[in-house]
Amino acid sequence: MAGSDLAELAKRRGFFFGSNGAYGGTAGFYTFGPQGAALKRNVEDAWRDRFTLKEGNREIEAPTVMPEAVFEASGHLEGFDDMLVACGECGASHRADHLVEDATDVEDAEALPGEEVEALIADHDIACPACGAPLSGEPVEDFNLMFATDIGPGDSQPGYLRPETAQGIFVEFPRLKEYARGSLPFGITQIGPAYRNEISPRGGLLRLREFTQAELEQFIDPETDEPPLDRVADVAVRLYPATAQAADDGDYLDTTIGEAVDEGVIGSPWVGYYLGVAQEWYERVGVDLDRFRFRQHLAGERAHYAADCWDAESEVDGDWIEIAGFAYRGDYDLSKHDEYGDDAFTVFKRYDEPKTVERATVDPDMSVLGPEFGGDAGAVAAALETLAARDPDAFADETVTVEVDGEPREVDADVADFSVEEVTENGEHITPHVVEPSFGVGRTVQTLLAHAYETDEVDGEERTFLSLRPEIAPTDAAVFPLVTNDERLTDLADRVAADLRAAGLAVSYDDSGSIGRRYRRQDEVGTPFCVTIDRDGVEGDGPETVTVRERDTAAQVRVPVDELADELAALRSGDEFAALRDRYGAVATDVETN
Ligand code: AMP
Repeated sequence: MAGSDLAELAKRRGFFFGSNGAYGGTAGFYTFGPQGAALKRNVEDAWRDRFTLKEGNREIEAPTVMPEAVFEASGHLEGFDDMLVACGECGASHRADHLVEDATDVEDAEALPGEEVEALIADHDIACPACGAPLSGEPVEDFNLMFATDIGPGDSQPGYLRPETAQGIFVEFPRLKEYARGSLPFGITQIGPAYRNEISPRGGLLRLREFTQAELEQFIDPETDEPPLDRVADVAVRLYPATAQAADDGDYLDTTIGEAVDEGVIGSPWVGYYLGVAQEWYERVGVDLDRFRFRQHLAGERAHYAADCWDAESEVDGDWIEIAGFAYRGDYDLSKHDEYGDDAFTVFKRYDEPKTVERATVDPDMSVLGPEFGGDAGAVAAALETLAARDPDAFADETVTVEVDGEPREVDADVADFSVEEVTENGEHITPHVVEPSFGVGRTVQTLLAHAYETDEVDGEERTFLSLRPEIAPTDAAVFPLVTNDERLTDLADRVAADLRAAGLAVSYDDSGSIGRRYRRQDEVGTPFCVTIDRDGVEGDGPETVTVRERDTAAQVRVPVDELADELAALRSGDEFAALRDRYGAVATDVETN
């Protein structure tokens, strides 16, 4: 399947298309049409079910605009850059690192300094992809990907559209920890838009300027908290470790999560746990595991604070794309906000048993320090306190010397009133570590469509269908009256559609064209079940029945109307159609080509 076939189908059938077409289009922005919006929502619901509900985590919704101070602390203001090279001839902007990677065998140009990338562009005579003019000699510059805005009128403060949902979780940690009653581990999730002013958006939903992320921030005590690794220890995974990527003949490592963690291939058990959970989830929503792998970040690719990073990658149109990242971020995020923000980004870790410790203190006599040091008396007292904690032996002599503003100040030991007390401590304040699974929803949607796109032949006719999982498909079932000139059939079809909708199913109703055409239309948007109301179902003395046709096999069964909603709901939750066939018996029917 060529990517263009899928792009054409996506646009024609209302999955997604470039936004603002009436105004010439805006690169990097896509609108999800009715089918795509439903599909995306189902992916988000399935993610929420697995990463929020089943893990016992909590979900929040934070604003998408945040003040500059947040991004000063997070490091995005300083370093969330891509390498830009602009064509001197036509003015088009390009990702310099991508041009170098495409034209040379350098794999990770982003990790190189700008001058080296400039040199590679010159050495390899790399030309502007838009107009063909040479790019040699053009400067390679850092381009910050954040969209800037102003918060409020007048003396407004600078703000930015968030480049990741994660910061909305980190900045609220002081409140979120209270909802978790201050006890680790706990996880907070968020699904929502993120914005990056990408230099060259491309590939449908793959690189957008506004896209949806589903992120989980798992807060842990690195000394004591362990993930429930046994739940996913047996999950078989295909890993592409950094060492294999660096070696000429490096190969995949087919192993299990349990073994990979045991052998240290995956450095953090928490990262290993979420790789296992993620792979099970990807399989559940319909990613083809033969076109899926976990790739470890190369050393140069990794953020400096991230100890171990893996990407989930899927193959789409012959390219491997990153659909999620899994990072052990240590205490980087919370420490930064602790340093820059006003609140405490720590939790109080209670000891099992209170500890008795010796603490050196001073109680300086201010009636002596005041006259002696004047305005510096307070600073001298504070310096004595710091010194007592750091070096109690300094108080052994008759006088003690501290430094204030670079000047030595001498104080009588008696005046400092040094003593050592025994105090009982119940715990300590620690900065939690963070493990972050970060999913791109649009890239997942694009992967699911690419992996579900199939063609075959039914009754001698070629058809295109999307073998989307029932849980994910935009429409749960389509309802067709076989003919429109028989009220018994149209009335029952109306009633069946209304009943299924009342039962919470997404139903499409279609009474136009031949039944075969109607099936094809549903096949193309991945509707897993078509319900046809025919004469056999309304005639005779028995209960009313309808046929249910399964998309991929085109097999049909006849089901009593009274049981239809329950059966379809069960199929949506993952029951096999084969079980339905065993229960009701297959129907030999020629309605496909009617
Ligand atoms: P990152 O923070 O760069 O690791 O991004 C986390 C996830 O968001 C990635 O794995 C992608 O699935 C997704 N993502 C990042 N940038 C974009 C983009 N420009 N367009 C669409 N999805 C993106």
